[in-house]
Amino acid sequence: MSFSLVSGGQKNLWIGRFSIFPDDMFIHGISTRYGGESTDRFEALNLGLHVGDDRDTVCHNRDVFFDGLGLVRGSGVTCQQVHGCDIMVVNRDDIGRGMYAYDESIPNIDALITDTPELPLMLFFADCTPVLLADPVRRAIGVAHAGWKGTAAGIGMKTVQRMVREYGCKPENILASIGPAIGPCCYEVGEQVLTSFDKTFPQYKTKIFASVGDDKYRLNLWEANRLQLLDAGLVQDNIDVAGVCTACNHKQFFSYRAEGGTTGRIAAVLAIK
Ligand SMILES: [Zn+2]
Repeated sequence: MSFSLVSGGQKNLWIGRFSIFPDDMFIHGISTRYGGESTDRFEALNLGLHVGDDRDTVCHNRDVFFDGLGLVRGSGVTCQQVHGCDIMVVNRDDIGRGMYAYDESIPNIDALITDTPELPLMLFFADCTPVLLADPVRRAIGVAHAGWKGTAAGIGMKTVQRMVREYGCKPENILASIGPAIGPCCYEVGEQVLTSFDKTFPQYKTKIFASVGDDKYRLNLWEANRLQLLDAGLVQDNIDVAGVCTACNHKQFFSYRAEGGTTGRIAAVLAIK
């Protein structure tokens, strides 16, 4: 298993890819900052419409990214992520929602699932963890946005459970990837975060928090999400962890922390062929 950046074939476009997803069945990619037209804090491939960047430029960047993935422009579905743990089942009726207008994306949702082919799920990130799920047996997929709040609320596990309920997926068949996100090297949090995880996943405490003194801790969101997927029934060998810190690598990926709050968004896209 591995995560690597590959050329998107045009204008310095580079796309992050996991080896775990079979290319004959799924199309996926994690965008980087490379290949777009945005400037200043949004340089260059900002894909977030809600962060104060120029709308037309972001729409253009989204087209560039979809071109690079070999997807039909504007065919994706997006949501207005709120660090919650609500999941939406999407289908053909949702094609294009929010692709070119933020207020048309699905409100108050942090994970999308579908079994509709050629319907790319597209979520946005700047330090939060992208969790991608694909079941090659039932041909169903899901993408979740897992910051600390979503992770503590169990968004990854709940997305798996919803795929089981909606599509009859067996967790042991699901292939998963955990994308670039702020790493334990850079993610210092306070007592409030520790307390939140204590309520939902107390058994993870020693594995995901390292004390740095003064009631401060380093949180490992990659591992928290990996453990959660294992607890949801996924097999260890089916979980591909990028292990790439967005704050350490903020030249390649947008980082909310490293850029002091105002920055662009990378996207995680997953579609069934
Ligand atoms: Zn780091």
